[in-house]
Amino acid sequence: MVQSKLSVKNDPFNNWKLLEALMNVVPIGMTYISPSLRVEYANPAIKQYHGFNSGLELIGKTLDQIFPPHAMDFILPIFNATLNGETVSFLGRADEKGGLVLNDDNFAKTYYFQTTYIPHLAEDDQVLGVIIIIEEITSLKRAELELTEQNAYLERFAHMLAHDLKEPVRTVKTYGDILSSKLVGRINQQETRFLNYMVDSSQRLYSFIEGLRTFNAIGSDELTYGEINLNTILEGAKEDLRLHIQENYAKIDAEALPIVRANSVLMHQLFQNLLSNAIKYSREEVAPQVHFSFEEQETYYLIGIKDNGIGIREEDKEVIFNLFSRLKTNKETTGTGLGLSLCKKIVESHKGKIWVESEVGKGSTFYFTLPKYTVN
Ligand code: ADP
Repeated sequence: MVQSKLSVKNDPFNNWKLLEALMNVVPIGMTYISPSLRVEYANPAIKQYHGFNSGLELIGKTLDQIFPPHAMDFILPIFNATLNGETVSFLGRADEKGGLVLNDDNFAKTYYFQTTYIPHLAEDDQVLGVIIIIEEITSLKRAELELTEQNAYLERFAHMLAHDLKEPVRTVKTYGDILSSKLVGRINQQETRFLNYMVDSSQRLYSFIEGLRTFNAIGSDELTYGEINLNTILEGAKEDLRLHIQENYAKIDAEALPIVRANSVLMHQLFQNLLSNAIKYSREEVAPQVHFSFEEQETYYLIGIKDNGIGIREEDKEVIFNLFSRLKTNKETTGTGLGLSLCKKIVESHKGKIWVESEVGKGSTFYFTLPKYTVN
């Protein structure tokens, strides 16, 4: 199929035969335009972009015979920039008939094209013509737009959860606490148990909403980063978990940890979640022992939290970091399945990685990295 009036003698590309064979089959539209705006070459794929039956129909036409005036107003400055030696890429939009759309927000009817104008330079850098490459990316672009919309919806939903649900739940918990203390000795054992269930559940729901709120906030501009001493963070997490540690007879020791550039609230949450899990998922009759290790590598810090708990099966090692995932273990524990997904999001928002190594029945070590920063 000959698509061009260009011959081997008048060959702007060199190796014209090979190039032409290639351009006849690629799904990307390609045209070669002379400085006087004439189409010198158009490959077969271009027809889908302009509503012509083949690329041949384009050859010999000038751009203003192909595009309406409003589209020419858009194209000409780009064309002229390319004649001055510039390569220009832009996202073009067109309607069903191939007409360029400039101000139409009805994306269901719009087709998207990744378009690049490239100058064809002679050896002395003189521009001989313009190569235009057009790739239709409509389905990709529509998927991207739909995803953006879905994300915005999810964000609004999470925001609603975090803010609007928090207050009523807090009220239930507060009045539940007041009732519990006022009714001591006046209600029987079963009624006390029911009341406790209510207060515990509202507390869990409150923590869950708080967790979701933090999850949502990570990566947003609300957070500030500074130089954080991880030893202080660990002490803070231990203090917050004092009861949990005491009740489980947990022993915790740590190597000296570094100073890192991080958000202190998130680091606190990370240490607290990992330490709390290391204690919570301990083996029956075996007091939890938790060791925080630290290694300095060339570009990052490596921190490990090793426990002697129930361990995690090979096939669960990645799943546990997913949002709301909880494993069925024979250990009865309460939780939301938010903790480790929060840890992952926190570490990744600090440009680090998190993973676990484990042996069932022996224990697990959660590792995370944080990039190194010079502390002045
Ligand atoms: P939660 O503790 O609320 O269930 P997480 O996201 O913190 O949620 O943990 C997800 C799951 O990973 C837990 O349900 C548990 O099965 C497993 N897990 C987490 N930490 C440990 C650990 N240190 N040892 C064994 N299993 C763990």
